[in-house]
Amino acid sequence: MITEMDIEKLEDEGIEMNRSDIVIGAIAGDMIGSPYEFSSIKTTDFPLFSEKSCFTDDTVMTIAVLDALLEYEEQTGTDLLGFWRLKGIDWGKLNRLFVSTMKSFGRAYPNAGYGGRFSEWLFSDSTEPYNSYGNGSAMRVSPVGAFFNDADLIDKVAEASAAVTHNHPEGIKGAKAVADAIHLASSMDKKGIKNTLKIKHGYNFYRTLDKIRPGYRFDVTCQGSVPEAIICFFEGNSFEEVVRLAVSLGGDSDTQAAIAGSIAAARYGVPEEIKAEAIKRLPGDLLAVYNRFDEETNPSKQELRAREWEKERRSKIPPGLHATILGFLEEWKAQTTPDVWEELLGSDPILTHFGLGMWIRNTYLYKNEKIQEGFREAGYFFVDDMSEVMLEIWIDELSKQ
Ligand SMILES: [Mg+2]
Repeated sequence: MITEMDIEKLEDEGIEMNRSDIVIGAIAGDMIGSPYEFSSIKTTDFPLFSEKSCFTDDTVMTIAVLDALLEYEEQTGTDLLGFWRLKGIDWGKLNRLFVSTMKSFGRAYPNAGYGGRFSEWLFSDSTEPYNSYGNGSAMRVSPVGAFFNDADLIDKVAEASAAVTHNHPEGIKGAKAVADAIHLASSMDKKGIKNTLKIKHGYNFYRTLDKIRPGYRFDVTCQGSVPEAIICFFEGNSFEEVVRLAVSLGGDSDTQAAIAGSIAAARYGVPEEIKAEAIKRLPGDLLAVYNRFDEETNPSKQELRAREWEKERRSKIPPGLHATILGFLEEWKAQTTPDVWEELLGSDPILTHFGLGMWIRNTYLYKNEKIQEGFREAGYFFVDDMSEVMLEIWIDELSKQ
């Protein structure tokens, strides 16, 4: 489990955040809070998952927003985390996608616990917003924070995702603040996040949960639930602790835990066992949308795919080219001394790699069209990649000798 104490260490090690955790963090929060939505508790001491834990409207709408963003990308050819800003956003198209994914997923799960007016909108033909300031805009916004790295873009897309139904200023503010918190959670200390959110959105964060809890009641407005959920993130020191704190407020527990969980996930990730419990409780069509995003963004899956692809490409290098590369190695060995080879195989070979890679490029690749041609046939198009492979073949060979 990752806690506040580990954050600096993770940053030092350059461990990359898994963006899909933000989405599953919201979903897990919804499920963990679901037994307590209408029978509130004022304690953090409760079973995290039970047979009563299930997904509700928060999960369905989170998946709808995620699906709209993925669909937008596919239909417009914008790469994930990539060129949304550069290409300019077709807001009309994005709005239509939000409306259609919310309606189709919402209608597929009609009993997920929607608010009265949202339910009315869901089953009507209306594509117009109805000025809501309910926390529905904040509970479904986490995919926006998960998708983008750019504060301005997050602000605008969060607003677009809210404005489909929740176009009241408080409804929009709630969505923006949560998306913003998700964005900042992975890159700033908590004091900085608190001040930034306070200045941008004006919520009062200078209250402790112990002060809030005794008088807190079920409240589905953004202004009466979003700041409290964010405070849970400020006070908790791990994903689990933040979610437990959100439930312990004794309000709209599933939504509070979904919001707090999405922000906590951006900072701490979601522990594997919690992720597994959440995935187990997701129906196939909702899970498929999460999986699609996870495939695109999970750093370990991406790395695995890249490694497999590289292995396949490497296997296509023809034997003739391989032999030529080894011939170059013999030539190089004749011109240099064994201590240089040892350095090449040594524990910190980065500098040697860099220098030798450059030398390989200049001596063999740039001057030899045929070598480049051979590499291109195997699927290598950049000279840097070609020299890297040549160097690796050399190192393999040298370590055998
Ligand atoms: Mg709910």
